[in-house]
Amino acid sequence: MTILTPLHNLLSPRGVSCLTCGKVISMAVRGYPELCQSCYAAIPWIVNPRCGTCGRPVGCPDCSRHGQSSRGFILNRSAVSYNATMREWLGQYKFRGHEAYGPVLSRMMGWAMKRMLRELASGKKGASVQFDAVTFVPISATRLAERGFNQAEWLARGAAATGNVPLLPLLERTRHTEKQSFKNRHERLHDMEGLFGFLPDAVERLESVVSAPQPLSWLDSSFLFRRRKGEGKNGSLSNLSETPLKLLLIDDVYTTGSTVDACSVVLLKVCSLLGRKGEVYCLTWARS
Ligand SMILES: [Zn+2]
Ligand SMILES: [Zn+2]
Repeated sequence: MTILTPLHNLLSPRGVSCLTCGKVISMAVRGYPELCQSCYAAIPWIVNPRCGTCGRPVGCPDCSRHGQSSRGFILNRSAVSYNATMREWLGQYKFRGHEAYGPVLSRMMGWAMKRMLRELASGKKGASVQFDAVTFVPISATRLAERGFNQAEWLARGAAATGNVPLLPLLERTRHTEKQSFKNRHERLHDMEGLFGFLPDAVERLESVVSAPQPLSWLDSSFLFRRRKGEGKNGSLSNLSETPLKLLLIDDVYTTGSTVDACSVVLLKVCSLLGRKGEVYCLTWARS
């Protein structure tokens, strides 16, 4: 799978039809040789998220209802709004096994990843962010067997490649649940309880990619002061100087946020088992 399109792909060979509408492509779209101009133009990119927490392009009652503090993740950003067209594309890929959509959706994730990194670096939410690892929402073994792939993992590959961040499977789904789309908000939240856990080797996997414990900064005078007075938090050297591990969690669709929230809580636990604080950011392909 390529994220960048070689120049020669821009000159569409005669007779190539658009992946989504089937019409012959007269002029290729830069970066998306599978699509015709009008299908590409129909992508509802989220260029300006209105809600700083969940990344919705419109005013957001959900985040004000829950309050930011109750969430396991810092924020979510999505590539596109989940309209009827995007629902159709994802359905083609996920349920009808139309594999050619995979690279397109993955490239869209790369676009969203770039935007997210730029936004985080712009100072609105603090200094630039370097993620330690990218991971993804798991599907059940039953679902994996019937579908043959986890769409969130493929989307995660696009984000990981763009950000040059290691991609790590860390989570597992502890049981099989019915399709979330048929359930109401209350049922979804109830279903989430204990639904996600971490893989047996998650801690080792994460440990293998994070740098060794950071050396104590001797310039941190407040630390030295507390240390002299014996007030170090937990009496530990490392807790005070460490920056949190930053994980990026990927899923296909953000609806209520309950899935990524439940996964974030488990990821924070994995970080704590490594003796580190964690911060989870979410990147989803579509915002419902
Ligand atoms: Zn088309
Ligand atoms: Zn929101």
